[in-house]
Amino acid sequence: SKGAALVAAVAQRLASLRRKVEETLALFKINQDQLQLVKGRMRERLEEGLKSKSTSTIKMLPSFVYLTPDGTERGKYLALDLGGTNFRAMLVRFKKQRYRLYHKIYTIPLEFMQGTGEELFDHLAQCICDFLDYMGLKKARLPAGFTFSFPCEQAAIDTGTLVTWTKGFKATDCEGHDVVNMLQEAIKRRNEFDLDIVALINDAVGTMMSCAYEDPQCEIGMIAGTGTNLCYMEELKNIEKIDQRNVPTKRDEETHEAEEDKQNAGANKKKTEVNSVVSKMCINTEWGGLGDDGCLDDIITSFDVEVDKNSINQGKQRFEKLTSGMYLGEIVRRVLLDLTRRGLLFKGHVTETLKTPGIFETKYLSQIESDRLALLQVRSILQQLGLLSTCHDSIIVKAVCGAVSRRAAQLCGAGLAAVVDKIRENRKLDHLSITVGIDGALYKLHPRFSQVLKETVRDLAPQCDVTFLPSEEGSGKGAALIAAVARRKQEM
Ligand code: BGC
Ligand code: MG
Repeated sequence: SKGAALVAAVAQRLASLRRKVEETLALFKINQDQLQLVKGRMRERLEEGLKSKSTSTIKMLPSFVYLTPDGTERGKYLALDLGGTNFRAMLVRFKKQRYRLYHKIYTIPLEFMQGTGEELFDHLAQCICDFLDYMGLKKARLPAGFTFSFPCEQAAIDTGTLVTWTKGFKATDCEGHDVVNMLQEAIKRRNEFDLDIVALINDAVGTMMSCAYEDPQCEIGMIAGTGTNLCYMEELKNIEKIDQRNVPTKRDEETHEAEEDKQNAGANKKKTEVNSVVSKMCINTEWGGLGDDGCLDDIITSFDVEVDKNSINQGKQRFEKLTSGMYLGEIVRRVLLDLTRRGLLFKGHVTETLKTPGIFETKYLSQIESDRLALLQVRSILQQLGLLSTCHDSIIVKAVCGAVSRRAAQLCGAGLAAVVDKIRENRKLDHLSITVGIDGALYKLHPRFSQVLKETVRDLAPQCDVTFLPSEEGSGKGAALIAAVARRKQEM
């Protein structure tokens, strides 16, 4: 009959639409062999980056953090955190293996993120001033740890030159300059308070440190948030690019240990002993730069190319642009736009909203992919974003989000597999058990990212047993711990 023919025709058309959508989503699928390749490429560039005249796209920056905390940290520290859209000022107080943290969050307006360096740092000084006022500590001249979540070339724990801005920042006259100096100068210009900035810290390093406080097996720090990064404890002898003469010797540490023992009646002796052999330094890999030499071109899609082209750092941070919160939503939006233009979504109706860069923040991805949400709720999220969808549309949107975030988690898993296997081989072990301190909204809030990440590492590094420990205040507690260790050194 006519009716049956019509139903068949509609069904056929739907099947054909779905096939086309599937074809697009297939571009984001990476198989086990490809992941192995990514792992190998990461490994190669990690090794290369440690050499003295390295041409690696992975910077492998020495952090001058040698020790993991030993629980003997005491006192009051200021921790400052600049990395995303916020600046956080924190006061951290350690007392008997416990800590307290007070903080205030300040937004960084776009005009400061992308204005002059002087304006940006003056703004930071103003925020710090407000915080010290608020805490009644303006006269205190506290030791401070500065968590600065961008690649810095360091020659000591308390200095560092910004190599390049990443994520949404591009303030002028900062790249190539010492950021500790810039902050100190801004504080001087303000002339209202004084700080002793004793440590410059990457957020990955702060994350590792804060988790090592709880778990001595934690020797990796990882960020899966607005940006992506990883740091780990590398054998000093493998770090060709640092001057080994400037490294603290075992004897320095033994002196320190003896002093501590007197004070602590041996309570922390065991941990201190383990830490007392200075044989490793934390390396900030800046793994987001993988692929800047084209080595990921075989998995990069035309959507990724567009995202890169329209970013403020074209050609850079290619791995980061496949894996982190700042970009995943943008990839999704571009896929949706393409599907809509091809008449496969939103009834082929291209709206202004859909053409607006940045509408899909990571938090929407997390919401859309949440299994607890009914399709109706997905539709209402899309509606909030100004996208009117049918039930069928929302299924497709969810599938697109899933494909993009799954690829991100798999790639991070492949990268992490390269690192844990390297550490295992460094130690000539058949089996390594290690903890990764981890932070970032993708890991902590996305419904699937962490699971796919874990599965991928398990598959690609079967000889390693990797535990993930979500960090608690990585850039506050971690920075303060590093400041505490750094100051202990200063005093010795
Ligand atoms: C930066 C890293 C940082 C990471 C996470 C990247 O864009 O280059 O230094 O650790 O973001 O915040
Ligand atoms: Mg952060």
